[in-house]
Amino acid sequence: MELDELYQSIILDHARRPRNFGELAPPAVRSEGYNPLCGDQITLYVRKGPDGTVDEVRFTGQACAICMASASLMTAQIKGKPVQEALRLEREFSGFLTGPDDPGPALGNLRALAGVKRFPQRLRCATLGWHALVDALKQPTGSETAEPEASSRGTQP
Ligand code: ZN
Repeated sequence: MELDELYQSIILDHARRPRNFGELAPPAVRSEGYNPLCGDQITLYVRKGPDGTVDEVRFTGQACAICMASASLMTAQIKGKPVQEALRLEREFSGFLTGPDDPGPALGNLRALAGVKRFPQRLRCATLGWHALVDALKQPTGSETAEPEASSRGTQP
């Protein structure tokens, strides 16, 4: 029971005061997510660092508490992490919600969404931001495609 209450308070906290809420200007990439089952709509902005990390990540949108909290927890968790690690976390989190997998402490506060396991119809709410993340990380950054600069080429290792 105590754990349930803790999880509940984490979700409510992030739903009411979402972290990293806002927009990012290009060259940050942008990705949209829409969940017609619930009406959740999220726009995610990701700026990749030259060293292959998630330099900055923000989101905006109108969504239910589960969706907001999941997106907020996601941004807090992946900011500053290598892109590969962010993608691995997405796989671990999806596995955690849909199957018997439990990646353990790596999930951190994302464990607060464990309740979704009992409500499969809310799965899309909890994973919407993550799908947008995967989509965003697959896109080339604006600086690489639109305006290749001598300086960015020069910093390649
Ligand atoms: Zn929802």
